[in-house]
Amino acid sequence: MDSKELWKAALGEIQLNISKANFLTWFKDTFIAEQKSKTIYIGVPSNFAREWLENKYHKTILQALNHLNPEILKVDYIVSQNNFSLEKIKKARGSRQHEEKLILDEQLNFQEFAIDPETNLNPRYTFESFIVGSNNELAHAAAEAVTENLGSKYNPLFIYGGVGLGKTHLLQAIGNKVKKENKKLKIKYASSEKFTDELVKAIGKQTMDTFKTSFRNVDLLLIDDVQFVAGKDKTQEELFHTFNNLYEKNRQIVFTSDRPPKAIPSIEERLRSRFEGGMIADIGYPDFETRLAILQAKSQNVGVAIDEKVLRYIAEVIPKNIREIEGALNRIIAHSRLKNHPLSLEESKKVLASIVNSMHQYVPFKEVIKKIASFYDLSENELFGHSRKKELVKPRQVAMYILREELKYSYTNIAEKIGHRDHTTVIHACKKIGGEINKNPVFSQEVTLLKEMLYNQ
Ligand code: ADP
Ligand code: MG
Repeated sequence: MDSKELWKAALGEIQLNISKANFLTWFKDTFIAEQKSKTIYIGVPSNFAREWLENKYHKTILQALNHLNPEILKVDYIVSQNNFSLEKIKKARGSRQHEEKLILDEQLNFQEFAIDPETNLNPRYTFESFIVGSNNELAHAAAEAVTENLGSKYNPLFIYGGVGLGKTHLLQAIGNKVKKENKKLKIKYASSEKFTDELVKAIGKQTMDTFKTSFRNVDLLLIDDVQFVAGKDKTQEELFHTFNNLYEKNRQIVFTSDRPPKAIPSIEERLRSRFEGGMIADIGYPDFETRLAILQAKSQNVGVAIDEKVLRYIAEVIPKNIREIEGALNRIIAHSRLKNHPLSLEESKKVLASIVNSMHQYVPFKEVIKKIASFYDLSENELFGHSRKKELVKPRQVAMYILREELKYSYTNIAEKIGHRDHTTVIHACKKIGGEINKNPVFSQEVTLLKEMLYNQ
């Protein structure tokens, strides 16, 4: 395998292990400058990049390379400005780096990530690239309706659903379509965390007026992952006023969240009622046919043929998260390019084994408790305590239910671990939660989401 191919494949692996933003920032313009027996020298564009790669991603890089070629045991970095290696770099750069960059551009579609600085929208999220299935039909229809009746039909539109199911995609598709059809309209996309960050900065720098205009002087405001305002009073207050201001002017607002407004803990009632005041649409898990359709759409135009059997296999083994489905597909694409032939089903299974195996990993007790507590915005003491307050009792019962259902703990074991209770209390809790899940779809979704979070990261 020549070093060009090797780096291309390694990047494919590395890409799966770090965030897209970091990947684009630190791996753009990198290449293999030299390969000397067991050591690979990576060419990087600056000292700064070299430091980052060395300090943050060295292990990931070495692992990826070693995985592809077990003889590689060491990785070093060379900055192109470095006199010592200038000649080498020049030689390497002449043809190779240019080619390398082209491949990388093609592989990752760098231009797709050109985020519009004014709106913060990523042009890759469009209605055209969004596959409609029974899981997202309603949310999709509502989103399209919003683009056609800006500020008048569903205001606000509130879209909720689990991780990696297409909320951000749909939210940005609204923005991209509105922008395309009317360039004059002002659009702003921000995650609720970004909203908080900007608010904090504005308070610190005493630039509240600028902050206010930036969010209020728009025709369409898109706020992603609004569940993160939970427990942040000042953010909630400011969001409430922003909402009212826009709403009064008939400006459109769209929110996304990982759960319905009712299930967001620690938010002010007045904000919750605003979230509920327009249209609420959920996105559920895609069925097999939708997963396959997504895979088929995404595997087109990638320049390598992918066997239908392989696509079906991915759709079968990765049942929920579409982001994971994409990750699996990217891995297949990278390996097909590396081998220069379409992977067989057997080869694909091998390539995906680590992803598939990690999906049902064991989550330790401590981690489970930590996640449940943070989901409900409680401290672990509150979760374990003996208070009979409704907002504490329910999460406590859910915790018991999850320990029983997911970790398969015995009732007595749970009783002991959750603050020395009687085991009949645990039996009662599990029955109650189980019954409520059957009766109440919103609650059922809440528990599903919680379970899903246990296995994510
Ligand atoms: P969320 O915001 O719900 O966590 P995203 O919108 O980021 O999820 O979606 C995760 C990935 O899956 C994105 O790359 C997105 O383009 C893709 N995706 C999700 N739903 C669909 C769909 N229905 N059709 C095509 N791609 C989808
Ligand atoms: Mg999202």
